[in-house]
Amino acid sequence: MATGGYVGKILYVNLTDKTTEEIPTSQYEEWGGGYGIGQALFWDRVPDKTIDGFDPANMVSFMTSPMCGTGAPSATGRTEVTGIGIQQYPIGWFTRSNFGGRWSAMLKYAGYDGVAVQGASDTPVWINIVNGKVTFEDATGLWGLDTHETQEEIWKIVTGNVDFRDWWDADSTRDSGRTTAKPAVVCIGPAGEAQTRNACLLHDSGNGGGQGGFGGILGAKNLKAISCIGTGSVPVADPAALMDIRLELKEVHGYNVDDPKVEQPLTGQGTSLFGINTNQPGYAHLLWTANQPARPQGCMGCFKNCRMNFASGLANGDICVEGLFWAASGDLNEQMAAITLLDRLGINAYDLINGHSYLHSLYKMGILGPGKEIHSELPWEEYATYGFIEKLLHAIADGTDIGADLQDGVTRAAVKWGRYEEDIASGLLNRPQWGFQEHYDPRLEVEWSYGSLFGDRDINEHGVNWWVHWMPLVTAALGVPAHFSAERMVELLAEATGVGDPDGWDYSEEGIYADPKLKAVAWHRHYGRFWLQSMLLCDWAWPQLASVNTEDNKGATPEYEIRMYKAVTGKDITYEESLEMGRRIWNLGRAIWTLQGRHRDMEVFSGYVYDVPTTAPYFLPVKENGEWKYGICLDRTLDREKFEDTKTRFYALEGWATDSGWPTRAGLGELGLDHVADELEKNGKLGA
Ligand code: SF4
Repeated sequence: MATGGYVGKILYVNLTDKTTEEIPTSQYEEWGGGYGIGQALFWDRVPDKTIDGFDPANMVSFMTSPMCGTGAPSATGRTEVTGIGIQQYPIGWFTRSNFGGRWSAMLKYAGYDGVAVQGASDTPVWINIVNGKVTFEDATGLWGLDTHETQEEIWKIVTGNVDFRDWWDADSTRDSGRTTAKPAVVCIGPAGEAQTRNACLLHDSGNGGGQGGFGGILGAKNLKAISCIGTGSVPVADPAALMDIRLELKEVHGYNVDDPKVEQPLTGQGTSLFGINTNQPGYAHLLWTANQPARPQGCMGCFKNCRMNFASGLANGDICVEGLFWAASGDLNEQMAAITLLDRLGINAYDLINGHSYLHSLYKMGILGPGKEIHSELPWEEYATYGFIEKLLHAIADGTDIGADLQDGVTRAAVKWGRYEEDIASGLLNRPQWGFQEHYDPRLEVEWSYGSLFGDRDINEHGVNWWVHWMPLVTAALGVPAHFSAERMVELLAEATGVGDPDGWDYSEEGIYADPKLKAVAWHRHYGRFWLQSMLLCDWAWPQLASVNTEDNKGATPEYEIRMYKAVTGKDITYEESLEMGRRIWNLGRAIWTLQGRHRDMEVFSGYVYDVPTTAPYFLPVKENGEWKYGICLDRTLDREKFEDTKTRFYALEGWATDSGWPTRAGLGELGLDHVADELEKNGKLGA
């Protein structure tokens, strides 16, 4: 059986001197794809790991995986972006972002497994990739355009202004290059051009790569866009097996609109939330209640299609935080317009979703406003209207009014205003680690918060969270029985993950510090690094740890991941081997952060996590007196001493030095990373 999944070359681009190089992908196949390869390239080609994210030497990689472009379910169209970030605080760690759509597939059809960009252009450029031919194009005429306008202009330039119902020639011969497809473009908007730390990348309508500030980094590189179009294909080792997997997965674990295994109890937003666990198409768009025709859509090759398109053309494809971004306005049309403006300007919704309410709190406290300590002439009295958010977003993109400070992100703006210490201590600014907005409660859902703190960013991996938190929450909120008991839940998770011990999913006061929890946290990091970030299985779809569509509630994980990998690449690996590959990738990252200045002393949460108790019910499985139930976990804080002890045991589990958190020679040697240990030693940062 042939090895498949790769098209064989990674495009390396030096923007400073406008040169390119083709790196054989085979040199990096041991890292899988996506984050694994992007990180390994960074290790090899950025000798000084301590540079700032804005430094031209920072290398930003846009990587695909063997699965991309193959039809592998919910793994065909995602792209992983890596490089030193500019969003985190206090240090911009080496980090990652990810966006969906079709860009990664199109890049492979154009002949490349990834694009790694280093240097900076002295004038605005965009990169044009057409069937293996790469050109640097003048972006002067695109500078200032928003993300949607930019893509439309590039489509016209590349295709010769063809009507998109027609064929056009992407290549020189009719048979090798005719297509009706539009180029896939990832680009930045005005916020990225202004090098704001909360600028995102945007592709097609609503596929954003927000975290890390990669939009601002591309702005610093004077790189407006990368466009790719190809009419080639991706070798797949066993296409018939892959097709069988697709059909079977859809049949067994997908949502059957004609005969759903679980009836939706409601219409409107309740339906959207219920769909999280039924896999109902369109569930991730939180504007189900928009009073206009709409239909589900998804990233290329997805078996869930969680997004929505609306007749108005507004907010198309936007999911999760974008959908909630302007919920402050009760008017759906205003919400959709605000989301669309956010996309067009290229601003990361997640830095602002609570950021704008934080600013509004400062206004209500008399700290922010005209002539106040933080001067702003924006119409704060009109907060919750479209008119207000329109002005705030433009102020950020243009660097006017309070936007001049907010271009550094909300966290750094708070630092500049002298508010940071007080507001993260009280939780008014609820950013538990590295300046990232709180996503799920860090005092409770600790596989998320511990993983984020021991890593580089808010982890944003939902495969566990859909079950342990959302399932009991949504069913309770809608007044229907949980799909299965807490006891069954933890059995399913223990088995599917391979952790084996149901106590890994005990979120009680004791459970969050216990050894089984640490094993679950470690599993989460290793699974995430390999399957989600390097194989590019979408985190909204994978892992499938449980199911409401099967009799025994067993999900598709880990059987389907392994089968997909084999069908695409032709290589047999065990699930345990895949987790070990994830551990290797995670440990190389740990070494990079160590070189950047990471130390145990920095891995502490913001004050409010330890000092301010939770007040709202937060559903999670808990074990009390030997019995499992879904607890509501009120009045919870993290205990500093217990967390420090937990940290020590986690470091030991991962093979890191317990006094510093730095990787050790023994731990790295076990993973075949002796050269990494040598580099740490040379820099006086090898754990003992
Ligand atoms: S689940 Fe949603 S975000 Fe993930 S690949 Fe499918 S459509 Fe894209």
